[in-house]
Amino acid sequence: MITVRLEAMLCLALLVFAALVAWAVKGSWWGVAAAMAGLVLFIGHHLFHLSRLVRWLDQPTGTPVPEAIGAWEGVFALLHRRSRRAAERQLELSGGLERFRSAAQALPDGVVVLDGDHAIEWLNATAEGHLGLSLAQDRGCPVTNLLRDPDFVSYLEAGQYAEPLVLHPSRTPGRTLALQVVPYGEEQKLLMSRDISQLEKLETMRRDFVANVSHELKTPLTVVSGFLETLLDGLGEIPAAEAERYLGLASDQALRMERLVEDLLTLSALETGTLAPTEERVALADLLAGVAEEARALSSGRQQIILAAPPPGFLLGSRAELQSAFGNLASNAVRYTAEGGSIRISWESLPDGSGIFSVKDDGIGIEAQHIPRLTERFYRVDRGRSRESGGTGLGLAIVKHVLTRHQATLEIESQPGSGSRFSVRFPPQRVSGQ
Ligand code: ADP
Repeated sequence: MITVRLEAMLCLALLVFAALVAWAVKGSWWGVAAAMAGLVLFIGHHLFHLSRLVRWLDQPTGTPVPEAIGAWEGVFALLHRRSRRAAERQLELSGGLERFRSAAQALPDGVVVLDGDHAIEWLNATAEGHLGLSLAQDRGCPVTNLLRDPDFVSYLEAGQYAEPLVLHPSRTPGRTLALQVVPYGEEQKLLMSRDISQLEKLETMRRDFVANVSHELKTPLTVVSGFLETLLDGLGEIPAAEAERYLGLASDQALRMERLVEDLLTLSALETGTLAPTEERVALADLLAGVAEEARALSSGRQQIILAAPPPGFLLGSRAELQSAFGNLASNAVRYTAEGGSIRISWESLPDGSGIFSVKDDGIGIEAQHIPRLTERFYRVDRGRSRESGGTGLGLAIVKHVLTRHQATLEIESQPGSGSRFSVRFPPQRVSGQ
Protein backbone atom coordinates (compact mmCIF):
# COMPACT_ATOMS: atom_id res chain seq x y z
CA MET A 1 0.00 0.00 0.00
CA ILE A 2 2.86 2.31 0.98
CA THR A 3 4.62 1.65 -2.32
CA VAL A 4 1.44 2.48 -4.28
CA ARG A 5 1.21 5.83 -2.46
CA LEU A 6 4.92 6.45 -3.03
CA GLU A 7 4.43 5.68 -6.70
CA ALA A 8 1.51 8.14 -6.92
CA MET A 9 3.59 10.83 -5.21
CA LEU A 10 6.51 10.12 -7.53
CA CYS A 11 4.21 10.46 -10.52
CA LEU A 12 2.82 13.74 -9.17
CA ALA A 13 6.35 15.05 -8.58
CA LEU A 14 7.29 14.05 -12.14
CA LEU A 15 4.35 15.93 -13.59
CA VAL A 16 5.11 19.03 -11.42
CA PHE A 17 8.70 18.82 -12.57
CA ALA A 18 7.60 18.60 -16.22
CA ALA A 19 5.30 21.59 -15.76
CA LEU A 20 8.16 23.56 -14.13
CA VAL A 21 10.43 22.76 -17.03
CA ALA A 22 7.66 23.83 -19.43
CA TRP A 23 7.30 27.09 -17.51
CA ALA A 24 11.08 27.72 -17.39
CA VAL A 25 11.50 27.36 -21.11
CA LYS A 26 8.31 29.20 -21.89
CA GLY A 27 7.40 29.35 -25.49
CA SER A 28 9.45 26.30 -26.34
CA TRP A 29 8.04 22.76 -27.01
CA TRP A 30 10.80 21.19 -24.95
CA GLY A 31 8.85 21.43 -21.72
CA VAL A 32 5.73 19.80 -23.19
CA ALA A 33 7.88 17.13 -24.82
CA ALA A 34 9.60 16.38 -21.49
CA ALA A 35 6.22 16.14 -19.71
CA MET A 36 4.87 13.82 -22.46
CA ALA A 37 8.02 11.66 -22.26
CA GLY A 38 7.54 11.35 -18.50
CA LEU A 39 3.92 10.33 -18.98
CA VAL A 40 4.76 7.82 -21.71
CA LEU A 41 7.44 6.25 -19.48
CA PHE A 42 5.04 6.10 -16.58
CA ILE A 43 2.19 4.53 -18.61
CA GLY A 44 4.63 2.19 -20.40
CA HIS A 45 5.95 0.94 -17.06
CA HIS A 46 2.42 0.16 -15.89
CA LEU A 47 1.32 -1.40 -19.16
CA PHE A 48 4.41 -3.60 -19.21
CA HIS A 49 3.73 -4.94 -15.68
CA LEU A 50 0.02 -5.24 -16.40
CA SER A 51 0.75 -7.43 -19.40
CA ARG A 52 3.12 -9.59 -17.26
CA LEU A 53 0.36 -9.89 -14.67
CA VAL A 54 -2.18 -10.91 -17.33
CA ARG A 55 0.26 -13.51 -18.72
CA TRP A 56 0.89 -14.91 -15.26
CA LEU A 57 -2.83 -14.97 -14.38
CA ASP A 58 -3.44 -16.93 -17.56
CA GLN A 59 -1.29 -19.77 -16.20
CA PRO A 60 -0.68 -19.22 -12.49
CA THR A 61 0.13 -22.81 -11.45
CA GLY A 62 3.67 -23.94 -12.05
CA THR A 63 4.79 -20.46 -13.29
CA PRO A 64 6.74 -18.25 -10.88
CA VAL A 65 5.18 -14.87 -10.02
CA PRO A 66 7.06 -12.16 -12.06
CA GLU A 67 9.43 -9.79 -10.30
CA ALA A 68 8.94 -6.04 -10.54
CA ILE A 69 9.88 -2.67 -9.12
CA GLY A 70 7.78 0.08 -7.69
CA ALA A 71 4.08 -0.42 -6.96
CA TRP A 72 4.08 -3.61 -8.96
CA GLU A 73 6.61 -5.18 -6.60
CA GLY A 74 4.04 -5.03 -3.79
CA VAL A 75 1.27 -6.41 -6.04
CA PHE A 76 3.41 -9.29 -7.23
CA ALA A 77 4.70 -10.03 -3.72
CA LEU A 78 1.10 -10.23 -2.52
CA LEU A 79 0.19 -12.52 -5.40
CA HIS A 80 3.28 -14.62 -4.75
CA ARG A 81 2.24 -15.10 -1.09
CA ARG A 82 -1.33 -15.99 -2.12
CA SER A 83 -0.19 -18.38 -4.80
CA ARG A 84 2.22 -20.12 -2.36
CA ARG A 85 -0.57 -20.45 0.23
CA ALA A 86 -2.94 -21.84 -2.44
CA ALA A 87 -0.29 -24.36 -3.55
CA GLU A 88 0.26 -25.45 0.07
CA ARG A 89 -3.49 -25.78 0.61
CA GLN A 90 -3.83 -27.79 -2.58
CA LEU A 91 -1.00 -30.08 -1.49
CA GLU A 92 -2.73 -30.53 1.89
CA LEU A 93 -6.07 -31.31 0.20
CA SER A 94 -4.61 -33.77 -2.26
CA GLY A 95 -2.68 -35.41 0.63
CA GLY A 96 -5.96 -35.75 2.55
CA LEU A 97 -7.71 -37.16 -0.49
CA GLU A 98 -4.88 -39.61 -1.07
CA ARG A 99 -5.06 -40.72 2.58
CA PHE A 100 -8.84 -41.16 2.29
CA ARG A 101 -8.40 -43.24 -0.91
CA SER A 102 -5.70 -45.39 0.70
CA ALA A 103 -8.04 -46.03 3.65
CA ALA A 104 -10.90 -46.91 1.27
CA GLN A 105 -8.53 -49.17 -0.69
CA ALA A 106 -7.52 -50.96 2.50
CA LEU A 107 -11.14 -51.74 3.45
CA PRO A 108 -11.94 -55.46 3.37
CA ASP A 109 -15.25 -54.57 1.70
CA GLY A 110 -15.76 -53.26 -1.82
CA VAL A 111 -16.66 -49.55 -2.12
CA VAL A 112 -18.10 -47.88 -5.23
CA VAL A 113 -18.82 -44.13 -5.19
CA LEU A 114 -21.82 -43.30 -7.39
CA ASP A 115 -23.03 -39.86 -8.47
CA GLY A 116 -26.66 -38.73 -8.64
CA ASP A 117 -27.13 -40.55 -11.98
CA HIS A 118 -25.60 -43.77 -10.60
CA ALA A 119 -22.46 -43.22 -12.69
CA ILE A 120 -19.24 -44.59 -11.17
CA GLU A 121 -17.01 -41.88 -9.69
CA TRP A 122 -14.51 -44.12 -7.96
CA LEU A 123 -14.17 -47.71 -6.70
CA ASN A 124 -11.59 -49.60 -4.67
CA ALA A 125 -9.66 -52.70 -5.75
CA THR A 126 -11.89 -55.00 -3.65
CA ALA A 127 -14.96 -53.76 -5.52
CA GLU A 128 -13.13 -54.33 -8.82
CA GLY A 129 -12.60 -57.97 -7.81
CA HIS A 130 -16.09 -58.46 -6.35
CA LEU A 131 -18.02 -56.91 -9.24
CA GLY A 132 -15.69 -57.51 -12.18
CA LEU A 133 -15.33 -53.74 -12.81
CA SER A 134 -12.30 -51.60 -13.62
CA LEU A 135 -11.73 -48.08 -12.33
CA ALA A 136 -9.67 -47.14 -15.39
CA GLN A 137 -12.29 -48.30 -17.90
CA ASP A 138 -15.59 -47.89 -16.10
CA ARG A 139 -15.23 -44.48 -14.43
CA GLY A 140 -18.16 -42.28 -15.49
CA CYS A 141 -20.27 -45.22 -16.69
CA PRO A 142 -23.71 -45.78 -15.12
CA VAL A 143 -23.30 -48.78 -12.84
CA THR A 144 -26.52 -50.38 -14.13
CA ASN A 145 -25.01 -50.50 -17.64
CA LEU A 146 -22.31 -52.76 -16.25
CA LEU A 147 -24.13 -54.70 -13.51
CA ARG A 148 -27.25 -55.68 -15.35
CA ASP A 149 -28.55 -58.33 -12.93
CA PRO A 150 -32.29 -57.46 -12.69
CA ASP A 151 -32.30 -57.92 -8.89
CA PHE A 152 -29.52 -55.36 -8.55
CA VAL A 153 -31.11 -52.86 -10.95
CA SER A 154 -34.45 -52.96 -9.14
CA TYR A 155 -32.74 -52.79 -5.71
CA LEU A 156 -30.79 -49.68 -6.75
CA GLU A 157 -33.81 -48.03 -8.27
CA ALA A 158 -36.29 -48.89 -5.50
CA GLY A 159 -34.37 -46.77 -3.00
CA GLN A 160 -35.08 -49.11 -0.04
CA TYR A 161 -31.61 -49.74 1.30
CA ALA A 162 -32.32 -50.83 4.90
CA GLU A 163 -31.56 -54.49 4.07
CA PRO A 164 -28.62 -55.68 1.98
CA LEU A 165 -29.19 -57.45 -1.33
CA VAL A 166 -27.75 -60.96 -1.68
CA LEU A 167 -26.53 -61.32 -5.25
CA HIS A 168 -24.77 -63.94 -7.38
CA PRO A 169 -23.28 -61.46 -9.89
CA SER A 170 -23.21 -62.67 -13.48
CA ARG A 171 -19.88 -60.89 -14.09
CA THR A 172 -18.14 -62.86 -11.30
CA PRO A 173 -19.67 -66.34 -11.30
CA GLY A 174 -19.16 -68.45 -8.20
CA ARG A 175 -19.29 -65.49 -5.84
CA THR A 176 -22.07 -64.59 -3.45
CA LEU A 177 -22.13 -60.92 -2.49
CA ALA A 178 -24.09 -58.89 0.05
CA LEU A 179 -24.60 -55.46 -1.50
CA GLN A 180 -25.69 -52.43 0.48
CA VAL A 181 -26.29 -48.90 -0.72
CA VAL A 182 -25.59 -45.97 1.61
CA PRO A 183 -26.92 -42.62 0.31
CA TYR A 184 -24.88 -39.52 1.27
CA GLY A 185 -24.36 -35.88 0.28
CA GLU A 186 -26.86 -34.37 -2.16
CA GLU A 187 -27.67 -37.39 -4.28
CA GLN A 188 -24.52 -39.46 -4.10
CA LYS A 189 -24.41 -43.08 -3.00
CA LEU A 190 -21.87 -45.53 -1.68
CA LEU A 191 -22.32 -49.07 -2.95
CA MET A 192 -20.69 -51.47 -0.49
CA SER A 193 -20.02 -55.12 -1.38
CA ARG A 194 -19.10 -57.98 0.95
CA ASP A 195 -18.09 -61.46 -0.20
CA ILE A 196 -20.29 -63.93 1.68
CA SER A 197 -19.48 -66.98 -0.50
CA GLN A 198 -17.77 -68.74 2.41
CA LEU A 199 -20.64 -67.93 4.79
CA GLU A 200 -23.16 -69.24 2.29
CA LYS A 201 -21.10 -72.40 1.80
CA LEU A 202 -21.05 -72.93 5.57
CA GLU A 203 -24.79 -72.35 5.77
CA THR A 204 -25.38 -74.90 2.99
CA MET A 205 -23.11 -77.36 4.80
CA ARG A 206 -25.03 -76.82 8.01
CA ARG A 207 -28.36 -77.38 6.26
CA ASP A 208 -27.03 -80.51 4.51
CA PHE A 209 -25.69 -81.79 7.82
CA VAL A 210 -29.02 -81.40 9.60
CA ALA A 211 -30.80 -83.05 6.65
CA ASN A 212 -28.27 -85.92 6.63
CA VAL A 213 -28.47 -86.54 10.37
CA SER A 214 -32.26 -86.52 10.26
CA HIS A 215 -32.23 -88.92 7.33
CA GLU A 216 -29.68 -91.25 8.96
CA LEU A 217 -31.73 -91.41 12.16
CA LYS A 218 -35.10 -91.61 10.49
CA THR A 219 -34.43 -94.88 8.63
CA PRO A 220 -33.49 -97.03 11.64
CA LEU A 221 -36.11 -95.29 13.78
CA THR A 222 -38.82 -96.19 11.26
CA VAL A 223 -37.64 -99.81 11.26
CA VAL A 224 -37.62 -100.01 15.08
CA SER A 225 -41.05 -98.43 15.47
CA GLY A 226 -42.42 -100.66 12.67
CA PHE A 227 -41.24 -103.82 14.42
CA LEU A 228 -42.51 -102.62 17.80
CA GLU A 229 -45.91 -101.84 16.30
CA THR A 230 -46.11 -105.27 14.66
CA LEU A 231 -45.18 -106.93 17.93
CA LEU A 232 -47.73 -104.89 19.87
CA ASP A 233 -50.49 -105.59 17.34
CA GLY A 234 -49.87 -109.30 17.33
CA LEU A 235 -49.04 -109.65 21.02
CA GLY A 236 -49.63 -113.27 22.02
CA GLU A 237 -50.26 -114.37 18.44
CA ILE A 238 -46.82 -113.96 16.87
CA PRO A 239 -44.71 -117.10 17.35
CA ALA A 240 -41.82 -116.61 19.77
CA ALA A 241 -39.16 -117.32 17.10
CA GLU A 242 -40.56 -114.66 14.81
CA ALA A 243 -40.88 -112.17 17.66
CA GLU A 244 -37.26 -112.89 18.56
CA ARG A 245 -36.20 -112.22 14.96
CA TYR A 246 -38.09 -108.90 14.96
CA LEU A 247 -36.52 -107.90 18.26
CA GLY A 248 -33.08 -108.87 16.94
CA LEU A 249 -33.56 -106.68 13.85
CA ALA A 250 -34.87 -103.79 15.96
CA SER A 251 -31.89 -104.12 18.26
CA ASP A 252 -29.50 -103.94 15.23
CA GLN A 253 -31.15 -100.69 14.20
CA ALA A 254 -30.95 -99.32 17.74
CA LEU A 255 -27.23 -100.15 17.75
CA ARG A 256 -26.85 -98.34 14.44
CA MET A 257 -28.47 -95.24 15.92
CA GLU A 258 -26.25 -95.51 18.97
CA ARG A 259 -23.12 -95.67 16.80
CA LEU A 260 -24.30 -92.67 14.81
CA VAL A 261 -24.98 -90.61 17.93
CA GLU A 262 -21.59 -91.63 19.37
CA ASP A 263 -19.82 -90.57 16.18
CA LEU A 264 -21.75 -87.30 16.13
CA LEU A 265 -20.77 -86.59 19.72
CA THR A 266 -17.11 -87.39 18.95
CA LEU A 267 -17.17 -85.12 15.91
CA SER A 268 -18.84 -82.32 17.81
CA ALA A 269 -16.33 -82.62 20.68
CA LEU A 270 -13.47 -82.44 18.17
CA GLU A 271 -14.98 -79.48 16.36
CA THR A 272 -15.96 -77.42 19.36
CA GLY A 273 -13.05 -78.46 21.59
CA THR A 274 -10.84 -75.42 21.78
CA LEU A 275 -8.30 -77.25 23.93
CA ALA A 276 -5.27 -78.63 22.15
CA PRO A 277 -5.00 -82.43 22.34
CA THR A 278 -3.34 -83.70 25.48
CA GLU A 279 0.35 -84.14 24.92
CA GLU A 280 0.86 -87.71 26.05
CA ARG A 281 3.82 -89.84 25.04
CA VAL A 282 2.02 -92.72 23.37
CA ALA A 283 4.18 -95.80 22.74
CA LEU A 284 3.92 -96.73 19.06
CA ALA A 285 4.18 -100.47 19.80
CA ASP A 286 1.19 -100.38 22.21
CA LEU A 287 -0.85 -98.11 19.97
CA LEU A 288 -0.41 -100.22 16.84
CA ALA A 289 -0.90 -103.50 18.72
CA GLY A 290 -4.21 -102.16 20.09
CA VAL A 291 -5.34 -101.11 16.59
CA ALA A 292 -4.43 -104.53 15.13
CA GLU A 293 -6.24 -106.31 17.97
CA GLU A 294 -9.42 -104.29 17.39
CA ALA A 295 -9.25 -104.99 13.65
CA ARG A 296 -8.84 -108.73 14.30
CA ALA A 297 -11.88 -108.70 16.59
CA LEU A 298 -13.95 -106.95 13.91
CA SER A 299 -12.67 -109.24 11.16
CA SER A 300 -13.37 -112.44 13.16
CA GLY A 301 -10.87 -114.27 10.97
CA ARG A 302 -12.41 -113.28 7.65
CA GLN A 303 -9.27 -111.34 6.68
CA GLN A 304 -5.63 -111.69 7.52
CA ILE A 305 -4.42 -108.80 9.70
CA ILE A 306 -0.66 -108.26 9.53
CA LEU A 307 1.09 -105.92 11.96
CA ALA A 308 4.57 -104.92 10.79
CA ALA A 309 6.81 -104.69 13.90
CA PRO A 310 6.78 -100.97 14.89
CA PRO A 311 10.04 -99.30 16.02
CA PRO A 312 10.46 -98.47 19.72
CA GLY A 313 9.28 -94.88 19.40
CA PHE A 314 6.59 -92.57 20.77
CA LEU A 315 3.94 -90.33 19.31
CA LEU A 316 3.10 -87.06 21.07
CA GLY A 317 -0.63 -86.42 21.28
CA SER A 318 -3.91 -87.62 22.69
CA ARG A 319 -3.94 -91.40 23.10
CA ALA A 320 -7.74 -91.63 22.83
CA GLU A 321 -7.89 -89.49 19.68
CA LEU A 322 -5.01 -91.32 17.97
CA GLN A 323 -6.55 -94.67 18.86
CA SER A 324 -9.89 -93.55 17.44
CA ALA A 325 -8.35 -92.27 14.15
CA PHE A 326 -6.11 -95.30 13.56
CA GLY A 327 -8.95 -97.61 14.62
CA ASN A 328 -11.28 -96.00 12.08
CA LEU A 329 -8.78 -96.55 9.25
CA ALA A 330 -8.22 -100.19 10.26
CA SER A 331 -11.95 -100.90 10.66
CA ASN A 332 -12.62 -99.38 7.20
CA ALA A 333 -9.97 -101.68 5.73
CA VAL A 334 -11.75 -104.67 7.30
CA ARG A 335 -15.20 -103.50 6.22
CA TYR A 336 -14.22 -102.82 2.62
CA THR A 337 -12.12 -105.95 2.08
CA ALA A 338 -13.67 -109.24 1.03
CA GLU A 339 -13.23 -112.44 2.95
CA GLY A 340 -9.78 -113.96 2.45
CA GLY A 341 -8.17 -110.54 1.84
CA SER A 342 -5.28 -109.17 3.84
CA ILE A 343 -4.68 -105.92 5.72
CA ARG A 344 -1.27 -104.59 6.71
CA ILE A 345 -0.81 -102.09 9.55
CA SER A 346 2.62 -100.44 9.73
CA TRP A 347 4.75 -97.53 10.95
CA GLU A 348 7.68 -96.04 9.07
CA SER A 349 10.14 -93.58 10.59
CA LEU A 350 11.66 -91.26 8.01
CA PRO A 351 15.21 -89.79 8.09
CA ASP A 352 13.88 -86.22 8.58
CA GLY A 353 12.28 -87.28 11.88
CA SER A 354 8.71 -87.53 10.60
CA GLY A 355 6.73 -90.76 10.71
CA ILE A 356 4.03 -92.46 8.64
CA PHE A 357 1.29 -94.70 9.98
CA SER A 358 -0.41 -96.69 7.23
CA VAL A 359 -3.15 -99.22 6.68
CA LYS A 360 -3.02 -101.10 3.39
CA ASP A 361 -5.71 -103.45 2.18
CA ASP A 362 -6.41 -105.46 -0.97
CA GLY A 363 -10.12 -104.75 -0.80
CA ILE A 364 -12.64 -103.14 -3.16
CA GLY A 365 -10.64 -99.94 -3.70
CA ILE A 366 -12.02 -96.49 -4.53
CA GLU A 367 -12.40 -94.70 -7.85
CA ALA A 368 -10.21 -91.59 -8.15
CA GLN A 369 -13.05 -89.07 -8.38
CA HIS A 370 -14.33 -89.99 -4.89
CA ILE A 371 -10.99 -89.68 -3.10
CA PRO A 372 -10.96 -85.88 -2.48
CA ARG A 373 -14.44 -86.05 -0.91
CA LEU A 374 -14.03 -89.07 1.40
CA THR A 375 -13.40 -87.00 4.53
CA GLU A 376 -16.65 -85.01 4.10
CA ARG A 377 -19.31 -85.86 6.65
CA PHE A 378 -21.69 -88.57 5.35
CA TYR A 379 -19.86 -88.94 2.04
CA ARG A 380 -19.89 -92.58 0.96
CA VAL A 381 -18.93 -94.24 -2.30
CA ASP A 382 -21.57 -96.92 -1.88
CA ARG A 383 -24.25 -95.99 0.66
CA GLY A 384 -25.72 -99.49 0.80
CA ARG A 385 -22.38 -101.19 1.37
CA SER A 386 -21.41 -98.69 4.08
CA ARG A 387 -24.70 -99.27 5.96
CA GLU A 388 -24.53 -103.02 5.57
CA SER A 389 -21.11 -103.06 7.20
CA GLY A 390 -22.27 -100.81 10.07
CA GLY A 391 -20.81 -97.54 8.72
CA THR A 392 -22.05 -94.15 9.79
CA GLY A 393 -20.35 -92.13 7.05
CA LEU A 394 -18.54 -90.12 9.74
CA GLY A 395 -15.40 -92.23 10.27
CA LEU A 396 -13.04 -90.40 7.92
CA ALA A 397 -14.44 -87.00 8.97
CA ILE A 398 -13.41 -87.89 12.55
CA VAL A 399 -10.00 -89.08 11.29
CA LYS A 400 -9.44 -85.79 9.48
CA HIS A 401 -10.27 -83.72 12.57
CA VAL A 402 -7.99 -85.75 14.82
CA LEU A 403 -5.15 -85.51 12.32
CA THR A 404 -5.55 -81.73 11.94
CA ARG A 405 -5.32 -81.38 15.73
CA HIS A 406 -2.03 -83.31 15.56
CA GLN A 407 -0.66 -81.36 12.54
CA ALA A 408 -0.74 -84.63 10.60
CA THR A 409 -1.92 -85.17 7.03
CA LEU A 410 -3.83 -87.99 5.34
CA GLU A 411 -2.83 -89.44 1.99
CA ILE A 412 -5.07 -91.90 0.15
CA GLU A 413 -3.90 -94.10 -2.71
CA SER A 414 -6.37 -96.54 -4.20
CA GLN A 415 -7.11 -98.67 -7.22
CA PRO A 416 -10.65 -99.98 -7.73
CA GLY A 417 -10.57 -103.75 -7.45
CA SER A 418 -7.04 -103.97 -6.07
CA GLY A 419 -7.13 -102.14 -2.75
CA SER A 420 -6.29 -98.95 -0.88
CA ARG A 421 -3.58 -97.48 1.27
CA PHE A 422 -4.42 -94.81 3.87
CA SER A 423 -1.25 -93.11 5.18
CA VAL A 424 -0.96 -90.60 7.99
CA ARG A 425 2.15 -88.42 8.03
CA PHE A 426 3.19 -86.94 11.41
CA PRO A 427 5.66 -84.02 11.56
CA PRO A 428 9.00 -84.55 13.37
CA GLN A 429 7.86 -82.62 16.48
CA ARG A 430 5.14 -85.25 17.06
CA VAL A 431 7.50 -88.23 16.80
CA SER A 432 10.16 -89.19 19.31
CA GLY A 433 12.54 -92.10 19.11
CA GLN A 434 13.18 -92.57 22.85
P1 ADP B 1 -18.31 -95.22 6.49
O1 ADP B 1 -18.89 -95.27 7.84
O2 ADP B 1 -19.32 -95.15 5.41
O3 ADP B 1 -17.28 -96.24 6.27
P2 ADP B 1 -16.14 -93.35 6.39
O4 ADP B 1 -16.14 -91.89 6.59
O5 ADP B 1 -15.29 -94.15 7.29
O6 ADP B 1 -17.64 -93.78 6.42
O7 ADP B 1 -15.69 -93.63 4.91
C1 ADP B 1 -16.29 -92.90 3.85
C2 ADP B 1 -16.35 -93.77 2.60
O8 ADP B 1 -15.03 -94.02 2.11
C3 ADP B 1 -16.93 -95.14 2.83
O9 ADP B 1 -18.32 -95.11 2.75
C4 ADP B 1 -16.30 -95.93 1.70
O10 ADP B 1 -17.06 -95.76 0.55
C5 ADP B 1 -14.96 -95.29 1.50
N1 ADP B 1 -13.85 -96.03 2.15
C6 ADP B 1 -13.25 -95.74 3.32
N2 ADP B 1 -12.24 -96.61 3.57
C7 ADP B 1 -12.20 -97.45 2.52
C8 ADP B 1 -11.36 -98.57 2.19
N3 ADP B 1 -10.39 -98.99 2.98
N4 ADP B 1 -11.64 -99.20 1.02
C9 ADP B 1 -12.62 -98.79 0.21
N5 ADP B 1 -13.43 -97.75 0.46
C10 ADP B 1 -13.23 -97.09 1.61
